[in-house]
Amino acid sequence: MISIFFLILLGKWMRWASQILRLGNGTSWPGYFILQIYPDFIREVLKRSDLTTILVSGTNGKTTTVKMIRDILQGQGKESIYNSSGSNMESGIASALIEHASFRGRVAAEYGVFEVDERILPRLLKNWSPDWIVLLNLFRDQLDRYGEIDSILKMWKKALEKLPLSTRVILNVDDPQIAYLGKTVHAPLYFGLSQPADMPAGPVDALFCAECDHKLIFDAFFLAHLGLWQCPVCRLERPPLDYSLPVAPSLLGTCHQYNALAAALLASKLEIPDDSILKVLSHFKPAFGRQEIVHYRKRQFQLFLSKNPVSFNESLKAVQQLQGKILWIIVNRNAADGVDVSWLWDIHFENAVQPEKIIVSGQAAEEVGIRLKYAFSSAVLIIEKNLKKALRSVLEHSAEPVYVLPNYTAMLEVRKIIAGKKIP
Ligand SMILES: [Zn+2]
Repeated sequence: MISIFFLILLGKWMRWASQILRLGNGTSWPGYFILQIYPDFIREVLKRSDLTTILVSGTNGKTTTVKMIRDILQGQGKESIYNSSGSNMESGIASALIEHASFRGRVAAEYGVFEVDERILPRLLKNWSPDWIVLLNLFRDQLDRYGEIDSILKMWKKALEKLPLSTRVILNVDDPQIAYLGKTVHAPLYFGLSQPADMPAGPVDALFCAECDHKLIFDAFFLAHLGLWQCPVCRLERPPLDYSLPVAPSLLGTCHQYNALAAALLASKLEIPDDSILKVLSHFKPAFGRQEIVHYRKRQFQLFLSKNPVSFNESLKAVQQLQGKILWIIVNRNAADGVDVSWLWDIHFENAVQPEKIIVSGQAAEEVGIRLKYAFSSAVLIIEKNLKKALRSVLEHSAEPVYVLPNYTAMLEVRKIIAGKKIP
């Protein structure tokens, strides 16, 4: 076996070199390289450490949920390590371990809280069994046109079946497909909304029972296809909740209520008192780009990461609640965003109140512009692909706060300009 000392030394050197040479912040590729040399690296470091490991996966809310869990742990004086948002493959987790491990391959922190891309979760579970897994949701987005959600669900089910009894799994009961996984795992724990959300959810595609394939009946929708459901044929139904949150989290939107519920249920099982959990969640500061407020030239910008139809609809609702007058929508079509932007047609712009001004930017500005012309009068629209030029025209309009709805790489770009600092 290659010595762990050598692997950690090499990994730390690569991390340091990538920072000095500005090849990125070293959150992913040192881990990628070390895993190429020694694929069992993650398991080897975990074997030498006393980390309690928590994996968080799902389409939306991973980064926020990880931060909520870490903040609650921190409130108890417990140290945790994590992988950077966007580095949610094996390489991101390996990089986090490289950063925090001693040269003997031991991580001193008590907890490792990692967000995991939904497609790589099954592969990760083949190599090691975490202590906790939190599964938030699987939303139908552009990928689902290729049946990807169903194939992810099947792979998840197969991977969960093989877990040891020591791994506890936390599931969202309002998502029928996630709740169905409870049949596969030992003693699942369930979270969900205990009362209907304040705003009606938009239309949703028909959803079928994961057990018998019959069309499900919904008494209420809380967010996209999440709600109160049951199967009229095989009688599969939403399991009872293991936790309810007596106060609303500080973030707007139903999606974040789910994130808070998942984090709180996990924390309560780690024997953290309810009042400490609630104190953290009611003062929670979001991760970068998630309802984050930034000031630029005395103007207030609030960033709402909007990476698929569900998160876009949530952002539009939040902006409406804030009575936003100026919207800046930025959509890129890089590989990390998905090059196919046909999902723009699944956003319910028609349900939103017409703002005073909408500036549209990014690589897919024209497509967004065409989509918006169907929903709003063209008098409110400005289409300017270039971010810096668009920012100039944003600043020309009244002193109102600007609500920015970017997808992933667009968020990184706009944040670099208006926040002017590195992503933490
Ligand atoms: Zn059924």
